[in-house]
Amino acid sequence: MPAKPSNKSTLVTFSPANSPEPAVEGNSSTPVPNPSSASKPLIAWTPVGPPVPPAPKDTIRVIADTLERNDSIYLSLKRHHLSDRQLALLDQALRKVFNPAHVKPDDYYTLAVDSNDVIQHFLYTPHRSPDRPVQVELRENSLIGHRLDLPLERRTEIISVRIEDNLSNAISAAGESDGLSALLFDEVFGAVIDFQLDPRQGDQIGIVFEKLYKDSRFVRYGHVLLARYQGQRISKLGIRYPDQKGQESYYDSKGESLGRMFLLKPLSVNRVTSRFNRKRFHPILKKRVPHLGTDYGAPTGTHVWTTARGKVTYAGRKGGYGKMVEVTHANNYRTRYAHLSKILVRKGQRLQQKDLIGEVGATGRATGPHLHYEIIKNSTHINPERINKGATGQALAQSLRPAFAQRRDALLRILEDRSDTPHLAIGSTD
Ligand SMILES: [Zn+2]
Repeated sequence: MPAKPSNKSTLVTFSPANSPEPAVEGNSSTPVPNPSSASKPLIAWTPVGPPVPPAPKDTIRVIADTLERNDSIYLSLKRHHLSDRQLALLDQALRKVFNPAHVKPDDYYTLAVDSNDVIQHFLYTPHRSPDRPVQVELRENSLIGHRLDLPLERRTEIISVRIEDNLSNAISAAGESDGLSALLFDEVFGAVIDFQLDPRQGDQIGIVFEKLYKDSRFVRYGHVLLARYQGQRISKLGIRYPDQKGQESYYDSKGESLGRMFLLKPLSVNRVTSRFNRKRFHPILKKRVPHLGTDYGAPTGTHVWTTARGKVTYAGRKGGYGKMVEVTHANNYRTRYAHLSKILVRKGQRLQQKDLIGEVGATGRATGPHLHYEIIKNSTHINPERINKGATGQALAQSLRPAFAQRRDALLRILEDRSDTPHLAIGSTD
């Protein structure tokens, strides 16, 4: 491919003696990076004021660029005329801390080279996780790589919304994305609210949650601290709180866990395409065949997780099931996950609840990509959608209850005070 200059690149050449204002990102209110990155500032950006330091031997050239579609660090640096020898040394240092195959468009870097084009410093920042840049420095003639862990700014925000058709749409109407819906579906209410069956028009949800920022750019959601679902069919409060071992999970207003032996569904999709039905007419076989599980319509490749902790007792092809995983759980329960495109566990493997086991596909007897999910108790199939009916969660230890109650009331007050404002930021902590 011919080398073409990137339109996003900037090329700055200067030496400390005539250095312009240092191009340091952020401002004084930006949190100071942790000591590992602060201890050695970028060589080319060292602020210089009087008295003038000794004249440098060398002029440092700084290249800053952004990766394009189908780009790589190698291709991008080739466009800046780095030698293969230097690129090989950089690659070697990078590979110890980072897989260069994992780069994505819009990731960006700065590179400092001396007048012989010897790499002095390289800083690579993934666009999606700017808190985890990779830094490579020349130390005693060899390039050493580190993965940095920079602090993100944590802001607490509140939304309070009314559901018109479904929760995802209500959340996006409040200006938030599917990442937040997924936290509610899968983490907070994953075992207690069936978001396919339970919501009704007019239901309300209030959420106190964290958003993480880097240099004022939203990076990802932090934790949901409180979520309150007030519906016609179901009402639930979920408050994030640590147990005696410091393990955080969600508790209702009485301090009982929202966790259950089973999650209600094995993937982050709510679209049920076929329910458990002992008298179903089968669309392919053209006869009555009971449907002994729940089908979820989802794109090929969607992650599938186990709904309860257990041990893999089958992982492979099995007739009409196609590629199938069976997990055996306590109390003679088994779960099956069928038509997978990919199996990611092996027989005998022990799993925690929500461990990844495979990806949605259309193997075996399937008209299109979907997950067929079954629960068997002893040797009887049961309806997965009813698995948690009547089940209760473990209560927080008595000794933790008073502090829990204080936390619950404080979060509820925050929500109540602001429930007339659809979307509000209440401040930030680092
Ligand atoms: Zn099915």
